[in-house]
Formats: sequence, structure tokens, C-alpha cells
Amino acid sequence: MSPNTIEEHYDAIIVGAGAAGLSAALAFTRSEAVDQARREGHDPRVLVVSKLQPLRSHTGSAEGGIAASLGNMEPDSWQWHYFDTVKGGDWLVDQDAARLLAQEAPATVINLERSGVAFSRTQDGLIAQRRFGGHTSDFGGEPVKRAAYAADRIGHQILHTLWQQCVGAGVHFAEEWYVTDLVLDDAKGRVEGVVAFDTHTGKVHALHAANVLLATGGAGRLFHTTSNSHDLTGDGMALALDAGLQLEDMEFVQFHPTGLAHTGILLSEASRAEGGILRNAQGEAFMQRYAPGHADLAARDVVSRAIRAEVDAGRGIADPKDPDGPKDCVWLDMTGIDPDHMRAVLPQVVETIEQYAGLDPSVDLVPVKPTAHYTMGGIPITVDGEVYRLDADGSRHVVEGLFAAGECSCVSVHGANRLGGNSLLDACLFGTRAGEGIALRFQDGPVDALEALDACPDDPELDQAATRRGTDVDALLAANAVEDIQGDENGSDNAYRVMRDLGATMDRGFAVLCDGASLGEARAALAGDLSDRVGALRAHSDERTFNQELTAIWEARHLVELADCVLSSALARHESRGSLYRTDFPARDDANFLAHTMMATDAAARWQPVRILDIEPGRRAY
Ligand SMILES: Cc1cc2nc3c(=O)[nH]c(=O)nc-3n(C[C@H](O)[C@H](O)[C@H](O)COP(=O)(O)OP(=O)(O)OC[C@H]3O[C@@H](n4cnc5c(N)ncnc54)[C@H](O)[C@@H]3O)c2cc1C
Repeated sequence: MSPNTIEEHYDAIIVGAGAAGLSAALAFTRSEAVDQARREGHDPRVLVVSKLQPLRSHTGSAEGGIAASLGNMEPDSWQWHYFDTVKGGDWLVDQDAARLLAQEAPATVINLERSGVAFSRTQDGLIAQRRFGGHTSDFGGEPVKRAAYAADRIGHQILHTLWQQCVGAGVHFAEEWYVTDLVLDDAKGRVEGVVAFDTHTGKVHALHAANVLLATGGAGRLFHTTSNSHDLTGDGMALALDAGLQLEDMEFVQFHPTGLAHTGILLSEASRAEGGILRNAQGEAFMQRYAPGHADLAARDVVSRAIRAEVDAGRGIADPKDPDGPKDCVWLDMTGIDPDHMRAVLPQVVETIEQYAGLDPSVDLVPVKPTAHYTMGGIPITVDGEVYRLDADGSRHVVEGLFAAGECSCVSVHGANRLGGNSLLDACLFGTRAGEGIALRFQDGPVDALEALDACPDDPELDQAATRRGTDVDALLAANAVEDIQGDENGSDNAYRVMRDLGATMDRGFAVLCDGASLGEARAALAGDLSDRVGALRAHSDERTFNQELTAIWEARHLVELADCVLSSALARHESRGSLYRTDFPARDDANFLAHTMMATDAAARWQPVRILDIEPGRRAY
């Protein structure tokens, strides 16, 4: 290997330091099996690799709350939570996973509290809870207060707490390392490890590990208008595709109705839970018409489509920052909320509106529009976090040692649409379960994995992948792009422009509403111009260290690959369900499509039946 490539061995590599990765690292470190291994003189070597400093992970932006039927404010039960989750997902939810999610939610939240999360409190000192869209009592009855919150900064609280616990437990981090390859031994059906690029030193690391967990978060950056931070480029999902695995239900992307107009930044659903109302250009509180009863707190896809319908009917408004621009926004009216209460429970929302729009929500109407928010699909996993392939005969085939959790994964608790507050819960619960799952592999003696590592197995694919990546880095840098690229007809094309144009293509062809023609056009743009451009990208500086353009190029490659997977999955589904609304197939079609898409790079969908236990599919959510 070249002097710029380093080989290392670990027992477990965790890729990602958000709620899912940190929960897994903690569960692993604190597990009985690992404790036992330590007592026997072997301290398992675990490394959390993160392309960001952990506290910059998107989990820290979560605002509104985490769902659990604690029943602190009103009567509640896990059975109601389970039902709402299945119904909110438009019945595409695997019920074994959703049942577990609802049953384990209270313990997960209490565990967070005991770890140090400073939840908001009731007068009696209990964890306070608020309403969130789609959460009801009595199997679809009245809205119920189920989201445990910390003002509107729940993610910040959870991320900092988990990170502090990890630091306290001695977890090792490789910060600002970018994982470029996931390597499997296909013949043996197991994971070999990952290749990572250390942005500080510019060196490539071949990280051999018998256990790898992918917890890389979502892919909101597929779209131009998104609430997601810039790092959410779907890396883990693209790594899985590159390694020959399938992705599940990628056609389901949630559009949150209230992105701040010109930025896409999220204004939490809590702003409507606390009394905010959507109004059209005529001042009408239009949600009553679209969702009588639930109105502004109907499911997110319903509200997003209602906004789009108002805009299409000419009742939209222009962003006041761009008065001559398209009338593609509506108003969020928060003036009915008591200003002191608003500042106490929605400080983040108020601050965002003040700083990014220059408005005062206690007196001004705020322009909003739907923003890409959450990726329901992802790397298919079992309820124990193991990644599997769906074989041609329909059976699940687990890849030994490979795990995934959080937004990059799909255990299918969200189905075709996620309820608010359920994703932090998903990330914490299934992250913990995956960490415990890895630890269990240590139970049978001093770890077969470790013995294998000490014997330094020959993992030729991993070493070859590291060498190839080293060559890729050299090529990206050696082009000495400043002259070469500025000289060619692309001018100074770069990864950021490619990502911007990809986002605009996906906004046009896929967001909120789509049809076969719009999906086909977007796919053609990907296959043509965007693929050519992403293939031609080179770095503009030959600096090996702290060269952010290198990672941006890999991110752009990942996004283009993933976009095709999203579009092919949507093209395969000839119906509308949850967040996917195809105007050419407006009805839900349970007879043919009550099934998960499993899509690999060949764009040929395989279908996996939905796991139904005890809730029969009913009518459309709301
Ligand atoms: C604005 C906003 C508000 C939200 N509010 C709520 C809410 O109120 N309630 C709720 O339940 N959910 C909410 N969500 C969703 C929820 O926050 C996320 O789904 C959840 O936090 C995802 O956690 P995660 O651990 O999967 O990923 P993330 O927290 O996104 O972490 C991903 C990690 O992966 C690392 N990574 C990625 N790619 C690589 C790579 N190639 N190499 C190395 N490392 C890599 C990153 O460095 C990062 O550490 C919100 C989301 C947003 C965007």
C-alpha cells in the first residue's frame, strides 16, 4: 500500500455520531458481554468514525420532541402509539417493528432522562409532553400529548447528553474522517470493514473490522429546499448500494410543510401544536377544508399537499424577501400565541424567524413552504439492526457483522410516512439495539471476531478498495484543477454547483407531487448532464489536508447515485401512498402495492411483503 494508506484493526467500527451511532456506542460499551470480555483481559477496540465533529451531527437540530406514551399530561397507551404509527405510515409499516417502537418508547425516554437529558417539566416535575400531528388517543380519536420535549431543542439535549456519556465511557472517536467505501466479503457473506479518509492528514485508512454499524443519517440534500444540514448526503445508503446491497422504500421522502420560505430551514411542527395556523393569500385558515378535525395538525404529507394545492389554485404568496418571485409560499400565523409563552416554549423557532427572515412572529405573518425533511427508506435492517438482502426467493439474508441504525436505515417503523417525534425514538432505540447486537457477538468467548483479527485475516477486498481510493484521491488532486478545469468548457464547475442543480432537478421532478413524466425527466437529467458533470469533477487545490472539496466531490457522487435509486423506486410504484403522491396514480392500491420496494443499482425493483400482525390496513390517514 502507498505511504498515504494506513491499515488498522478494530472489533467494531461505528460510522456516524448522531443519536443512532452514539446510542449504539454506549449500549455496546456498557453491555454485559463487553464487560465480560474486559474482565477476561480483552478490551474491545471500538472506533466511532464521523465526518463531522460529533456535536455538529444533525440530531442536534431536532426541535419538537421525542414520542412516548408516558401519559404524563393525558391518558395514553403504547397500543394507541403503535396504531398511530402504523396508520400514519399509510399501512406500509412493518408491525413487528412498530409494536416494539411503541412498547419500548417510554423506557427509551426514561433512559435518556437518567443519562442527563434536561426535558421540560410539568408543574409536578414530570417530563412535559406536547401534541404532534397524527398522535391520537383511543385508536385515532382526539389528539394526545405524546411528544416529550426540551423547549424546542430536544435534539441538542439528546446529542450533547449521549456524547458526554460516550466521552465519559472512554469511547474513541475519529473526528472528521470521511468513510468512502464499505467492503463486504461476498463469498462468505460477511463484512470486512470500511475505507476512511482522514481529512486532517489526507491519509486513507483501511479499517478492518468484523462488525460495522452504519449510522450516517438521512439524505435531505437530494433536494434544494430542505430542512437538513449540508452533511445529509445519504453517504451510508450510497455506500450500501456501492457494496451491492439493496435499499428499501427509497421513494418515500417526507416534506415538512413549514420550511422558512427562502431557506427551507425547519419551523418545528411545535409552532402549530402551540397554536400557529396556516393561512392562504386571502387570509383563510385553509387546513380546515383539507383535514376537518385535525386541521393544521394533520399528517405532514397532507398539509404539504394542501399548501401545494393552494399555491396551484393561485392562493399562494411570494416570499417577502423576493416579492417578484414565484407565489409558492403560504403564511404561518403565530400571532394568536401569547408572546411570552411563545418565547418560553418555541425559542428556536422565534430565533430562526427573527434572524433569517427579519420578522417578529408575535406580530408578523411568516412565509413558509414545504421542505424536504426526512428519508423514510434506507438500508434494510431487522429489528436487531442487522442489514439483510432480499433474495430472489423472498427470504432475508443477513450480512454477517453488518448493522445499520437511525435515519440511514429502514426497519420500517415509518412506512410511507413518519409521525413527528418517532425518528429520534427510532434512532435511540434501534441504535441501542444494534449496539447490543454487536456486543452479543462477543458473548461466546474472547470473540471469534477478535481472534480472526489478531490472526490478521486476509481481507483482500478491503486492501484493494483502500488502494483504489488512494488512486482516486491522487487523481482528484493531481488534475491541478485550477488551470485544467477553468480551461475547459465547464468553466469552474464544482461539486457545490452539481449538488445545487441536482437539488433543483429533484425539487422539480419529485417533491410533494410527481408523475411518470416528471420522474422520467429527472432520471434523464441524472443519466445525462449530471452524471457527466459529477464524473468530471476535480479538486481546485492539490492540498491533501483539510481539502473540503474532496469530500464534497464524494458527496455529490453519492447524491447522484442515490437520486436515481429514489426516482426508480418511485417509478416502480404505480400508486399514491403516504408521502408519495403520483398524480397519474392518485389512489392507494393495496391489492398490488402493499409491499416494500427493494432497489439495487440495476433499477429493477424487488418487492417485500409488509409484515402485518394485528392491524389490518384501513382507509387513508386523515
Ligand atoms: C431540522 C430538523 C428537526 C428535526 N426535529 C425532530 C424532532 O423534533 N423529533 C424527531 O423525532 N425527529 C426530528 N428530526 C429527525 C431526527 O433529528 C433525525 O432523523 C435523527 O436525529 C437522525 O439521527 P442519526 O443518528 O440517524 O443521524 P445524524 O444525527 O444525522 O448523524 C449522522 C452522522 O453520520 C456521520 N456521517 C455521515 N456520513 C458519513 C461518512 N461518509 N463518513 C463518516 N461519517 C459520516 C455524520 O458525521 C454524523 O455524525 C429532525 C430533523 C431535522 C433536520
